[in-house]
Amino acid sequence: MTLTHPIGLSETDEPTTNPPPNGETDGRVTPAATAEAGRVTPVMEQYIEIKAANPDCLLFYRMGDFYELFFEDAEVAARALGIVLTKRGKHHGRDIPMCGVPIVRSDEYLHRLIALGHRVAVCEQLEDPAEARKRGSKSVVRRDVVRLVTPGTLTEDTLLDARRNNYLLAVARARLSSVGEETRFALAWIDISTGEFRITECERLSLAAEIARLEPGEIVVSDALFSDADLVSYWRSLPAVTPLTRDVFDSATAERRLTSFFAVATSEAFGTLTRLELTAAAACVTYVERTQLGQRPPLSPPLRESAGATMAIDQATRGNLELVRTLGGERRGSLLDAIDRTVTSAGSRLLAQRLSAPLTDPAAIERRLDAVAAFVDDVAARADTRSRLQAAPDLARALARLAVGRGGPRDLAAIRDGVQAAADLARALTSLKDVPAEIAQAMASCRRPDAALAAELALALADELPLIKRDGGFVRESYDAALDETRGLRDESRRIIAALQARYAEESGVRILKIRHNNVLGYFVEVTAQHGEKMMAPPLNATFIHRQTLAGQVRFTTTELGELEAKIASAGERALGIELDIFERLCAAVIAESAAIKDCAEALARLDVASALGALAAERAYARPDVDDSHAFVIEGGRHPVVEQALARDGTPFVANDCDLSPLPPPYPPPHAGEGGVGAGRIWLITGPNMAGKSTFLRQNALIAILAQMGSFVPAKHAQIGVVDRLFSRVGAADDLARGRSTFMVEMVETAAILNQSGERALVILDEIGRGTATFDGLSIAWATIEHLHDVNKCRALFATHYHELTALSARLDRLHNATVKVKEWKGDVVFLHEVVPGAADRSYGIQVAKLAGLPSSVIERAKIVLAKLEQEDRAAPKGFEDLPLFAAPFKVAQPAHEGAHDTLIAALAAFNPDDMSPREAMEALYALKAKLAEK
Ligand code: ADP
Ligand code: MG
Repeated sequence: MTLTHPIGLSETDEPTTNPPPNGETDGRVTPAATAEAGRVTPVMEQYIEIKAANPDCLLFYRMGDFYELFFEDAEVAARALGIVLTKRGKHHGRDIPMCGVPIVRSDEYLHRLIALGHRVAVCEQLEDPAEARKRGSKSVVRRDVVRLVTPGTLTEDTLLDARRNNYLLAVARARLSSVGEETRFALAWIDISTGEFRITECERLSLAAEIARLEPGEIVVSDALFSDADLVSYWRSLPAVTPLTRDVFDSATAERRLTSFFAVATSEAFGTLTRLELTAAAACVTYVERTQLGQRPPLSPPLRESAGATMAIDQATRGNLELVRTLGGERRGSLLDAIDRTVTSAGSRLLAQRLSAPLTDPAAIERRLDAVAAFVDDVAARADTRSRLQAAPDLARALARLAVGRGGPRDLAAIRDGVQAAADLARALTSLKDVPAEIAQAMASCRRPDAALAAELALALADELPLIKRDGGFVRESYDAALDETRGLRDESRRIIAALQARYAEESGVRILKIRHNNVLGYFVEVTAQHGEKMMAPPLNATFIHRQTLAGQVRFTTTELGELEAKIASAGERALGIELDIFERLCAAVIAESAAIKDCAEALARLDVASALGALAAERAYARPDVDDSHAFVIEGGRHPVVEQALARDGTPFVANDCDLSPLPPPYPPPHAGEGGVGAGRIWLITGPNMAGKSTFLRQNALIAILAQMGSFVPAKHAQIGVVDRLFSRVGAADDLARGRSTFMVEMVETAAILNQSGERALVILDEIGRGTATFDGLSIAWATIEHLHDVNKCRALFATHYHELTALSARLDRLHNATVKVKEWKGDVVFLHEVVPGAADRSYGIQVAKLAGLPSSVIERAKIVLAKLEQEDRAAPKGFEDLPLFAAPFKVAQPAHEGAHDTLIAALAAFNPDDMSPREAMEALYALKAKLAEK
């Protein structure tokens, strides 16, 4: 069996299942004999020393064909991996727990441990056990950790999701004022599997949103920041946060560490970075160096993302809008899944990135849209580009693996094919009628890698390639003369031997002379006993040396045969050696071109995204949006990108709807509008029964804004969008009762964030806010929220509600527009038309919806009677809400409707604790209040 091994040794360590009978041999752990006597074996000593240097990692300790784990590590790993826990020898009189994973399957086990949040230190044998033996029979094979495997520093395809970036994020903090009130954060993130390196700064308020956007595989922070009172529970809520000692985040040495990693003289090479940004960036590269133990992956120089360059979308909004995964955690059913037509993994990663970070600069958005438009218009170029891209492998990840010494022959082939495909694609794209700037730039990058490199790789690599370089056979025939000769010797051994046999038969005159092979003698000449004498006598005995006499045969060897055998035996090893040298040479040539190759890989990804979005637009009739600096928000014929496709699968058409949240046209703002300047957007208040399509309408408008600003065409006939800088989407807790009692609190905390953070450029989506509490509470909160959005935030907003009473607000708030989703009643059933029209819902159709849901008809009939009675009473008594201060100044206490009832009602209300009430209890309380009112 051939195994990957850092220095290519053949293993002599025994498998763990079969310990040798006595103590130390070949430098293996066989603690049994010595440890019984209370001593620690030299190997255990070595193990303990290496483990002590890596206390926060599980130690994979290489022994022959296994990685072994001992002590507590073994217990943890055995439990996590469901593998057998055994024991091996004793330490201080106690059994040493042990378990092991075979090298050949170690990736799989690593993957599972990393996914569970463990870190693994991989400790290899650094010399052949035979070398160790030369130093004396008791000496231990040199071993050391060659790599730390952590969730944020993976490069192997088997450990990574091809369609997602895997970021390592470093977060650094600076207190700007002495009181510590004003703090800034710098974020630096790296995908070491692609070389991407970015930096940005943000404030405390947007920290969580930035982290939610990146979804890092691992976050590193200083010990101090990790245990900061304000953040400690936040860090705990994230999957992999690694606290590091202060020196990693030391700002005084940051610049030096960063420039030395990139081997540049000064950090000015990266543009102007703040001290805080330098600190975060240096922490990132320091951690990479530590985990890769000196190997340097080909990182791009850090690129600064200016704050505000992307739309701020917090975690709740991302989840709620199901951008990259559904609320259930699946990719299927998400917006990303619905729009992803990319054909390469790198393209898929870039698409996810863009979707997670829509831009805010209209010019940058236009550039992306131009590229998409080119592929929408030119059907042939689109098809050709996509079929060429399909053949382009994942250049970035292959390059990263080669650079850190974990690459194989197929990674070289990936470079060969990727570079070739890129060059061909660039040539093909010259056929485009006009080449937009974005595409022209990508074409230039596609041509950047040295063509001679691809040609050399094409010459060198065989058609069929092994996964692992030590399997050999990956260098093409007639590429290297010495290799050909060596291989010729190995492969043609039979022919050479056959020829030799013919010659010996001729020379000896023994026609039946044979050359045979066995494991004991190797190659030998064999004749029958009757010819034996003759062979052992002069002159033949000068050539044939007697080895063995058996019953019927006599066996000989010859000097020539011996030499030939030695040659054949070592030919395989030598051929492999030559191949490995060639591999290293090609690898070095690739690394020398790494900047150009990375650039080329990114260009391929951009072309994939542009052509894929082009294909999507053509397939689903998306339109190019107008994105500008205005505060407009006009969608004509908008559709929900995910629901539309889901319905299409059943052949159901989606009903397109318009939306207009733009500021009112002149002569607005009217004189009394005060500070409600030209940028103040409109709020649409949407009422309508359950299942009418309110939530769908709300979300589709948010999704259209995201698509437009990420540079995609949108599911609408036409869209004009003044750049949205912040997007909020919240769903009332009532839609999510299963989550438990605290949901109302969560809902209010989230609403508070919106009211505190939204400016004129924000887009706010509120779906049934205020539902998680008693009716009066909920209504009042919804009411006050709308007033605040209208008067203070002045942002564009969509608000779906079942509180019909809120529609009265439009009489006083001039930018509040009432809309409803049309339904019609047909033979006592409700029919959903999904059409959004101006106005308010006439009633709630709750009973009709209940009927649709299959409530027993007796219940439906009874409910109708109760409803009729309630409505009658309601008409008889003056309506409470018309007496509320709808048209007076807000927040003023109303005149009581019923003299005398006032105190009783107030007292009753004061006794309620809405947070402790179920919706049903709230309803009952409401009836009780009504009853009290009727008493008076
Ligand atoms: P609401 O929030 O008013 O209760 P939803 O938005 O959840 O309603 O929509 C209910 C269902 O109606 C959706 O699952 C979808 O299948 C369908 N639907 C919603 N909007 C449309 C539309 N515009 N065209 C077609 N079907 C729609
Ligand atoms: Mg809804």
